[in-house]
Amino acid sequence: MTTHDITVIGAGIVGVAVACYLQRDGHRVTLIDRGPPGEFTSKGNAGILSPGSVVPLGMPGVLKKVPQWLTDPAAPLSIKWRRLPYAAPWLWRFIRASRRARVEEIADALRPLLGQTFEAYRTLTHAAGCADLINQSGYIAVYESEASFRGDALAWSLRRDRGVRVEDIDAARIRELDPDLAPIYVRGVLLPEQGYVANPLWLTQRLFKHFVESGGRYERRQVTGFEIGPDGPRALDTDLGALPVDRVVLAAGIFSAGLAAQLGTCVPLESQRGYHVHFPEPGISPRTPVMSGDYKFFTTPMADGLRNAGTVEIAGLDAPPTQARIDALVRHTKRMYPGARLDDMQTWMGHRPCTPDSLPVIGRSERFANVFFAFGHGHTGLCGAAPTGRLIADLVAARTPNIDPTPYRATRF
Ligand SMILES: Cc1cc2nc3c(=O)[nH]c(=O)nc-3n(C[C@H](O)[C@H](O)[C@H](O)COP(=O)(O)OP(=O)(O)OC[C@H]3O[C@@H](n4cnc5c(N)ncnc54)[C@H](O)[C@@H]3O)c2cc1C
Repeated sequence: MTTHDITVIGAGIVGVAVACYLQRDGHRVTLIDRGPPGEFTSKGNAGILSPGSVVPLGMPGVLKKVPQWLTDPAAPLSIKWRRLPYAAPWLWRFIRASRRARVEEIADALRPLLGQTFEAYRTLTHAAGCADLINQSGYIAVYESEASFRGDALAWSLRRDRGVRVEDIDAARIRELDPDLAPIYVRGVLLPEQGYVANPLWLTQRLFKHFVESGGRYERRQVTGFEIGPDGPRALDTDLGALPVDRVVLAAGIFSAGLAAQLGTCVPLESQRGYHVHFPEPGISPRTPVMSGDYKFFTTPMADGLRNAGTVEIAGLDAPPTQARIDALVRHTKRMYPGARLDDMQTWMGHRPCTPDSLPVIGRSERFANVFFAFGHGHTGLCGAAPTGRLIADLVAARTPNIDPTPYRATRF
């Protein structure tokens, strides 16, 4: 196989997984990030590894919910008025993608990629000696009322229809699976094939360390643009001067859209801001993550404490964090685990890089043959990172991939 010099822009979990898979093929890989690897969005997520996450954020009936999103800053999804003029074109596409027929297509397209989550990570974590960070524990989703459970019926059937194991459970079984949960849940769902990462930042850091120890190069720089030659970019403009490149993979999370536009490809990408509250010594030890079906957040038993993460806020990159959302997460944690010690709380906000159709952008640029895209993973970037790394490596090597990349093409918008 011919090997190349490949520069990966972005050392979040996606860029690091891509770099590791390319390195396994013998390429000479340089990772570039303006900050320490893994410390942007990939740091504070809920840690859920969910091969069954085939449900897009935009679901049928979404239009009816928009008024609540605009008026309740603590709702599971909220939109800041100030952001509305900028986000409107994206929101319009998002609403269009929430038609039932399109939702089925999106679920069909997510399943093959995310279905490989555990297997694709296994290759990387075994090589890096950090397989212990991955737990295939299953998770449970819990509901406080029959009505809210019924409200998610389509989401569960989308999973079932694609072969995801989904078991309905009653209040007694919920208590058995997690005795620390408040006795307020009447219905639930157990997904035994899913799991979580003991700490998502540690995962990126351990894979990155292995990448460097195996000969990978890391440059701490900010990429500001490209020097375009007759066949595509031949150098990156950076804050530390030009950096010559042969092949480029763009994996810069939410910042990818601006860089892709400079490469002649326009992708609608909006930050869906999410939050976490993290409690280092909760005094309880749930066996699996728990999803609140009513409020749409995950509580994950991480190696360094209990983390409650989730919710969606469309407010752009620059607005300060919304305290009401952090307060709501704390309130929900207390409601879910009344016996937990919630001292020494750490809080965090991150930017999910979201396309309107909840599908990532993965593949070769149609404009320049030496450019590949690997971004826009939205709510499932931790799950999708390792399968994306493998797919990009296949495309670079011109091997037939075991996933059809067509649904992820950048030109679909
Ligand atoms: C609250 C919350 C909970 C979540 N829970 C889950 C979950 O349970 N499971 C799951 O699968 N996903 C989850 N996600 C989503 C997941 O965290 C993201 O999809 C994923 O981290 C995106 O990774 P990334 O590598 O694409 O982006 P990032 O982690 O943002 O990395 C991009 C990197 O590019 C660098 N960069 C950007 N621009 C430049 C530039 N110009 N020059 C140099 N470097 C640059 C940045 O510094 C950054 O390090 C959650 C997200 C949030 C916010």
